[in-house]
Amino acid sequence: MQKTILTIAVPCFNEEEVFDQTMENLRTVLCDLMGENLISEQSQLLFIDDGSKDSTWEKIENATLFDPLVSGMKLSRNFGHQRALLAGLEEAVKFSDCVISIDADLQDDTGVIREFIIQYLQGNEIVYGVRSKRDTDTFFKRNTAQGFYRLMEKMGLSLVYNHADYRLLSKRAIEEMLRFKESNMFLRGVVPLLGFKSTKVYYERKARAAGESKYPFRKMIAFALDGITSFSVKPIRLITMLGFLFSVISVFAGIYALVQNFMGHTESGWTSLMISVWLLGGLMLMSIGLIGEYIGKIYEEVKQRPRYIIESNLCKKVGNKSKVH
Ligand code: UDP
Ligand code: MG
Repeated sequence: MQKTILTIAVPCFNEEEVFDQTMENLRTVLCDLMGENLISEQSQLLFIDDGSKDSTWEKIENATLFDPLVSGMKLSRNFGHQRALLAGLEEAVKFSDCVISIDADLQDDTGVIREFIIQYLQGNEIVYGVRSKRDTDTFFKRNTAQGFYRLMEKMGLSLVYNHADYRLLSKRAIEEMLRFKESNMFLRGVVPLLGFKSTKVYYERKARAAGESKYPFRKMIAFALDGITSFSVKPIRLITMLGFLFSVISVFAGIYALVQNFMGHTESGWTSLMISVWLLGGLMLMSIGLIGEYIGKIYEEVKQRPRYIIESNLCKKVGNKSKVH
């Protein structure tokens, strides 16, 4: 039987501090697996540079020149983690039987990659890496993440708890996933929708090996909002219901105000009037904002813009690899 060709796809954004370490680590994993005959010699590492401003791309380019196991591609600017990953998957699927995606910072334990492959060989098309502990994440990150999962669940979206983008996808799973054409692709939400046979592999999440998080609070909020509004119309329904409730209340409030007026107590109504004006004003603004979110989404989607643009592609396709070295 033909051996499995594995590609490990690593999106990198300003990761010069950790790149060498990451490459060495993943390289060792790959060579060990080849040594064990679990994967084909044509397996490789694919680094996707997401428009880094530092020397990350130079490092990748250099590695592709001297190391037959390393491929690289560079996006023309910073497109964000999800799109960089998507670019990598779309490219890797052309020459791989399965692809493992992992962050560049070595927070996810590369020791379980072997288990990923074993699960794949046993017929799983999707293998989720799940963090069994998040001790190394900050208190803030842990709790916001927990809140996010809960919120998503309430919105009717099933996510794999404590799973980020460390996973294995089979060729077929990726090909099907690429048929999802939304330009703001939220991979964590889309992958469970594929419905293929899947399993979970648990590992302990470590601290970043070097450098700092590329997900500041601002990006986290944008990510969460994207996740929710891409998958659920519940917030809109909530607004409608709130609107209905407030309309009913305002009828009674109106009657009350009229009665007060007839009884000659008009001046005393000033405070309550101000409160309701502010409250309703706030609510309306919030609602308009949320509706705007969805309209923004529609606007983004109807444009049908490309999800990413590749500037240079140094991928080694299967077949012309053996000559290098
Ligand atoms: N990343 C990227 N583009 C971005 C932001 C991040 O490709 O705009 C990459 C980054 O290099 C890393 C991964 O996405 O490999 C996850 O980022 P990070 O580790 O900073 O996120 P955190 O683990 O803090 O959530
Ligand atoms: Mg990280």
